[in-house]
Amino acid sequence: MNAPDFDHAKVPAECQEVREQMFLLATNDLEDDKAEAAYLHLSRCPGCREAMAEHVRLAAAMFGVLGKPEKS
Ligand SMILES: [Zn+2]
Repeated sequence: MNAPDFDHAKVPAECQEVREQMFLLATNDLEDDKAEAAYLHLSRCPGCREAMAEHVRLAAAMFGVLGKPEKS
């Protein structure tokens, strides 16, 4: 069983930057150009894809409880 690795000390700088934006990415609150760069990184980084899946799950769980405010 491999748990997703959230230890930032072991994560390359490029990945750290993407991971800092992941929650916003998961909630669609990241600016388009940054989201594009983040998705490009995800497309070639399995570790970040795994971390992203966790963020999506977390965001879904949170908004399932709180409800996400509608963006106009
Ligand atoms: Zn990465």
